[in-house]
Amino acid sequence: MSASNGHRVRVVVATPAHSGLRGPLSYESERALPPGALLRVPLGKREVLGVVWDAEPDDDAGAGFTARPVAACLDEIAPLPAAWCQLVDFTANYYQRGVGEVALAALPPQLRDLDGTQLARRLKKVATGHPAVRGADVGPPPSPEQQGALDRIAAGDGPFLLFGATGSGKTEVYLRAAERVLARDPAAQALVLVPEINLTPQLLARFVDRFGAAHVVAMHSGLTPAQRLRSWLAAHHGHARIVLGTRMAVFTSLPRLGLIVVDEEHDPSYKQQEGARYSARDLAVLRGRLETVPVVLGSATPSLESWQACESGRYQRLEMPSRIGAGALPRVRLVDMNQQPRKTLLAPALLEAIGERIARGEQSLIFLNRRGYAPVLACTACDWKSDCPHCSAFRVFHKADRTLRCHHCGYTERVPRACPGCGNVDIAPLGRGTEQLEEHLSELLSQQLRPGPDGQSRPVRVARMDADTTRAKGALEAQLAQVHAGEVDVLVGTQMVTKGHDFRRITLVAAVNPDTALYSSDFRAPERLFALLMQAAGRAGRDAAHADASQMWVQTWNPGHPLFTALRRHDYPGFAASQLRERREAGMPPFVFQALVRAEARTQEAAQAFLKAAREGGEGLDATGQVMLYSAVPMSLQRVANVERAQLLVESASRPALQHFLAAWQPVLQALRTPGVLRWAVDVDPLAV
Ligand code: ADP
Ligand code: ZN
Ligand code: ZN
Repeated sequence: MSASNGHRVRVVVATPAHSGLRGPLSYESERALPPGALLRVPLGKREVLGVVWDAEPDDDAGAGFTARPVAACLDEIAPLPAAWCQLVDFTANYYQRGVGEVALAALPPQLRDLDGTQLARRLKKVATGHPAVRGADVGPPPSPEQQGALDRIAAGDGPFLLFGATGSGKTEVYLRAAERVLARDPAAQALVLVPEINLTPQLLARFVDRFGAAHVVAMHSGLTPAQRLRSWLAAHHGHARIVLGTRMAVFTSLPRLGLIVVDEEHDPSYKQQEGARYSARDLAVLRGRLETVPVVLGSATPSLESWQACESGRYQRLEMPSRIGAGALPRVRLVDMNQQPRKTLLAPALLEAIGERIARGEQSLIFLNRRGYAPVLACTACDWKSDCPHCSAFRVFHKADRTLRCHHCGYTERVPRACPGCGNVDIAPLGRGTEQLEEHLSELLSQQLRPGPDGQSRPVRVARMDADTTRAKGALEAQLAQVHAGEVDVLVGTQMVTKGHDFRRITLVAAVNPDTALYSSDFRAPERLFALLMQAAGRAGRDAAHADASQMWVQTWNPGHPLFTALRRHDYPGFAASQLRERREAGMPPFVFQALVRAEARTQEAAQAFLKAAREGGEGLDATGQVMLYSAVPMSLQRVANVERAQLLVESASRPALQHFLAAWQPVLQALRTPGVLRWAVDVDPLAV
C-alpha cells in the first residue's frame, strides 16, 4: 500500500516509560478510522493493541518515510469515546508519562493479549442494550439532611464535597443520586469509586440490592482478567449502569456517564504509586468537568485539599452532621499513658470498659497499626537487632510461625535460637504488634465469661484481623461475616478494621498506640491520624439501641495535643482550620504544588548524582522564577531490597508554572545517563514527601 491512496493514522501503543517514544506512532490504514478505534499494529517484531488517536495532519503525511500498515481493526468493539481520550491525554501530560502507556494501562489486560478471533468469542457472551433498571429494593425515605444534599446535587454544578459524619447516611445519598440520574435517562451510567472493594463488600451489596445484579459491575485488581474484560465491555457498550470500582475504575469507558461518586475521598489509596502516579480522586473531578457530569466526593474527614477547595469556593460543601436515627457519635476518652505503670499495654480502665461491653453482649474493636508480634527482636547482651540485611529497616517478629519477616522486601528467616552477634540465648521482642495484642487480650480475658444465647455463660472470643490473617482468598469476607454475626466479642486489628464497615454491635473502639504519627517527619501525618481516629470512632455506636454507651478510647503520651482536643469534640472543621493555617504559614500544600523525582540506584551516591545532574539540567528552564528546586536527599526508607533510594523536591505556588517546568524538564531527565541508576520517576502531587 502506498501513502497516496491509504490513510495515515496516529496510534498510541504501550511504549516503555523512558523510551523517548511518548507520543502516538504513525500507521497506514486502508480505510479512514475514527479516533478511539481499537486496532492491532506491528511494533518492532511484535503485534500489539493500539488506539487511534487522530488522523495525521496532511502536511506531515508521507513526509519522506513509509509507515507500517495496520494489522487488524477490532471493529466489534465501539471506538473509545472522545472524552476518554481527553482524560488519558490530560493524565499523561499532567503526570509526566507517555500517552500510550497511560491509554493501554487503562484498558483491561485481556484486550491487549487476545487476538481478534478470541475477542469476538468473548464479545458474544456479553449482553448488549440498555435494560431498564427495576426497584428490587426501594430504600428508606431520605432524612431531611439527605434530602437537602440531594436537592443541591440535582440543582447545582459541583463538584460537591459531601461532608457527612460517619453513619450520617452518605451511601444512601450516593444511591439516591444515582437512582435519579438513571431514572431520567434510560441509558445513563454512574461511576462510583471506593478505596478498597474487598474491605467493604457491604457497599457493593447495597448497590446490587438497589439496582439489581445485572446492572452493577465491579472493576478492581482482584478480578480475574476474564472478569475484568467482561466488566469493561459491559461498561463500554452501555449495558452496565453502575460501575463500582477502585482507583483504576476512573478510566472505565462509559459512553453515557451521568454521575461520578468518590467515596472516602480522603483515602490515600486513590493515589497510584507506580507507573503514572495519578490521583483517581483528582481525575474524577477532571472527568466530571470534561463530561459535564456532577461529581460527589464524600467523607467524614475530607482531605485538606478538598476542604480548602470548598473554602475558596471551587467546590460546594454539602453538610450532614447528624447520624441516622438516634445514633450518637461515641464519647472520646483519652488515657494519659504518663500516668500508667511502666510497660502498660492496655490501661486498667480500658480493660474494665471492654469487660463491661462483653458482659452486656456488645463488641469492642481495638486497633494498633502494626502487624506481627513485635516490630523488632533484640539481644539483651549486645546491640544485635533484627535488621533486614537488604533494607534500612528491622525485620518484624511473627510469633505464630516463629519467623523474622521484612515487611518491605519480604526476606524471611526462622527466629535464631541464639543471638547471631554474641551467642546469648536471651533475645527479646521490643515494642508491640497486633499478634501480641491479641495474645495479651486473650490471656487477660480468659477468666471472663459472656452471656450465651441460652442464658449459659461462655468463654470470650477474641479475633484478629490484619494483612496476615486475611491473606487467603475469602478469609477477609469470612472474618467480617463473623463480626457482623456477633461471633466475635473483641476484634483486634490494624487500620483495616477502621474502614467503612457498618458494624452494628460495636460500642467501644480503642486506639492503643497512635502517637508515632505525631513525631513523623511527614507533614501529612497529623491529617492522616485524625482521619484514621475519626473513622475508627465511626465504627462505634452505629446502632441507636447501644449508642448511648458508645466510647472511643485513645491511649496517648500527649493528651494535651490539639489533635486530640479536636478529636474529643469530633471537630473536623476546627482541626482542618488549624492545619490549614499551619500549612499556609509554612508554605505547604494545598497552598503550594509539589513534584518529586525519585531515583533508585545501586549506591546512594549514584542516586544522588542522577538527581544532582537533573537539578543542574533544570536550572534556567523556569522562565517564571516561581519554581523552586531543592537538593537531593535520601528517602526516609533509604534502602529496600538492596536498592538505594533518593529524591528531589520541586515546588511552586503556581500549578501552571510547575506544569510548564516539568514538561520542559522531561526531555532533560530522559537524556540523563548516570551509571548505576536503575530507575527514576516523577511523582506529581506526591502524598508523602
Ligand atoms: P455513612 O456512609 O455516612 O457512614 P451509611 O450510608 O452506611 O452511612 O448509613 C448508616 C446506616 O443508616 C446504614 O445502615 C443505612 O442503611 C442507614 N440509613 C441511611 N439512610 C437512612 C434513612 N434515610 N433512613 C433509615 N436508615 C438509613
Ligand atoms: Zn547478642
Ligand atoms: Zn528487607
